[in-house]
Amino acid sequence: MANTATQRTHTSPQTALYDYEAIVLGAGVSGIYQIKRLIDLGVHATVLDANGGVGGTWWNNRYPGARFDSESYTYAYLFSKELFAQWQWQEHFAEQPETERYLNHVVDRFDLRASITFGARVVSAVFDESISSWTVIAHDGRTFRARYIVAATGVLSIPFIPEIPGRETFRGESHHTGHWPTTPVEFAGKRVAVIGTASSGVQVIPCIAGEVASLTVYQRTANWCTPLNNSAITAEEQRELQANFESMRETLNTSVAGFLHQSSDRAAYDDTPEERLAFFEQMWNSPGFSKLSSHYTDLLFNDAANQEWCDFIVGKIRSIVHDSETATKLIPKNHKFGERRPPFVTNYFEVYNQPNVTLVDTKRTPILSVTETGITSTDGLREFDIIIWATGFDFGTGALTRMGIVGRDGIALADSWADGPTTFLGVQCHGFPNLFFPGGPHAAAGNNPRYNGDQVDFIHDAIVFARDSGYDTIEVESEAEQRWTNMVDKYAKKGPFSEASYFFGTNIPGKPRKYLLNSGGRPKLFSTIAEVKANHYTAFLLSRSVGE
Ligand code: NAP
Repeated sequence: MANTATQRTHTSPQTALYDYEAIVLGAGVSGIYQIKRLIDLGVHATVLDANGGVGGTWWNNRYPGARFDSESYTYAYLFSKELFAQWQWQEHFAEQPETERYLNHVVDRFDLRASITFGARVVSAVFDESISSWTVIAHDGRTFRARYIVAATGVLSIPFIPEIPGRETFRGESHHTGHWPTTPVEFAGKRVAVIGTASSGVQVIPCIAGEVASLTVYQRTANWCTPLNNSAITAEEQRELQANFESMRETLNTSVAGFLHQSSDRAAYDDTPEERLAFFEQMWNSPGFSKLSSHYTDLLFNDAANQEWCDFIVGKIRSIVHDSETATKLIPKNHKFGERRPPFVTNYFEVYNQPNVTLVDTKRTPILSVTETGITSTDGLREFDIIIWATGFDFGTGALTRMGIVGRDGIALADSWADGPTTFLGVQCHGFPNLFFPGGPHAAAGNNPRYNGDQVDFIHDAIVFARDSGYDTIEVESEAEQRWTNMVDKYAKKGPFSEASYFFGTNIPGKPRKYLLNSGGRPKLFSTIAEVKANHYTAFLLSRSVGE
C-alpha cells in the first residue's frame, strides 16, 4: 500500500503531467515535518523555500535576542524518541541559533536535505482542473508541477513596515526583525532606533543596549511584559526529560494549548488578599506562558482579578525602573493582561536605567517622518546609524495571499479571501482542491508546533484516504468551510483578545477585521478531525482526474 501515489506518478500515461505528487512550500517547523511524513508515506515530494537554509521563521527572525517563549522541548518535534534523546536543548527557552541548529540536525538526521530546494520564492501557483494538478512558478521562472501543494508558509512570515513618509530615504542601515540579515549587524558604538515594543522589540532591546552608543525606543503601546525566567537545563533536568518523554509527549499531544504547565484549580477570589499576593509573586517567577496557562482560572474573564494582577505588575515596573516618568510610560493604559499577546522578557525594564537608553512615547510625540539621517517626531529630529523595525507582520493570511495562488475557475485566493479567510480546520478552503495550508489562518491555538503538527498529521491522513480510495483530488465542501469559519467568528467574540490585536488583522491598513486564530481551540480541532475521519471524510469532495 505504501507507494500507491508514487507508483501512479511513475506509471500513469499522464506521468508528464506533474513532476511531484506533492510540493511543500516552506522549510520551517511545519514544512519539515510535512515533508518527513510525505516521504515516509512513499509520496514523491519536495520542498521549495525562498531562503538560503532551513528554519522558516527561525531563519528569518535571527535578530539578537530572538528566542522561544515556549519551552524548547515542548516546541521540538515529538515524533521520534531517538531524535529527542539525541538532541539535548541547552536552555529552557532556546535562542535562535540553537533552534536553527536543531532544525538542520532534524533535516540531516532524516535525510531530508536533498528533498529541499532553497532560494525558490514562489510567485505563482495555479490549479489546472483538467489534470487536477498545480503549476508552481518560482521568482526565477523555475516551474514545478504537482498533484498536491502543502503551503507551510507560516503566519508570521510577511514583515510589516508602516508607511512613514521618507522611510526609503534613510541612509543608514534599516532592518526588520522578521527579515534579519544573515550577515552580522555591527552595533558597537552605533546610534540605534527600535520602533515597536511587542514580542520582537522587547527581545532585541536588552540584547543590544549594552554595546550601542545610544538606543532610542519608539513605543506606541506599552505591553504587559513579564519575565520569561529562562535558565540553562541542568543535567538532572535533562535526565528527567529523557525519562519522562512518553508521558510528556502524551500531555503535549492532548493538552488544550500544547504546553506542559499545570493549570490552576483556583479562581482569584478563592484566595485571601495575602494568598493572592503570594500567588502573583509565584506567577511572576514562573516560566513564560505559565502566566496565562497556570494563572487563576478567571484571570482573563474577571476584570477585578485581572486588574489586581496588572496592579501587581505595575508595582514591579515601578520597583525596577528608576525614573518614574519612564516607568509611567512603560505601564499599559489601554488593555488588560491577556487582551493582546503578552511578551515575555529578560532584563527588559532594567534596560531603561541605562543612561544611553531613551524611551519615546509615540502617542505623545508621534513620528512624523524618516529622514536621510534619522527620525523626526513632533519633538524634533533624532539621528541614527541603524533603524530596527520591530513593527510586526501581516499575520495569518499574509504569505498565502501573496503567492499568486489561483484555484478552480481562475479564482485567486487573494480575491476569495478579500473579506477575510474562510477555511475548514485552518487547513483547506473550497475552490482550491489539493491545496493544504497547515499552520495557516484559523489554526493557531497555543504552542505553534503542536497544533501545526496536528494539521500536518491530518493532511497526511487525508492524502492517504484519497489515494487509498482511488481518488486524486480532494477539496473541502463549501458547507463545511462555512461551518468552521462561522465557529471561528462566533467564539472570537467570546475570547480574551481585543479587536485591537493583530489577531484580527488590525495592524495592517485596509485588512479586513476578521479573527485569524482558531477561537475554538485545540479541542475543537481534535473533535472535528475525529468526526471527519469517523465519517470517511464526508466534509470533502473526492474525485478522479480526467483520463486516469
Ligand atoms: P507585533 O506584536 O505586531 O508588534 C509590533 C509592534 O510595532 C507593536 O509594538 C506596534 O505598536 C509597533 N508599531 C507598529 N506600527 C507602528 C508605528 N507606525 N509606529 C510605532 N509603533 C508601531 O509584532 P512582533 O513584536 O514582531 O510580534 C509578532 C508575533 O511574533 C508575536 O505576537 C509572537 O507571536 C511572535 N514572536 C514570538 C517570539 C517568541 O516566541 N519568542 C518572539 C517574537 C515574536 P502597537 O502595539 O501600538 O500597534
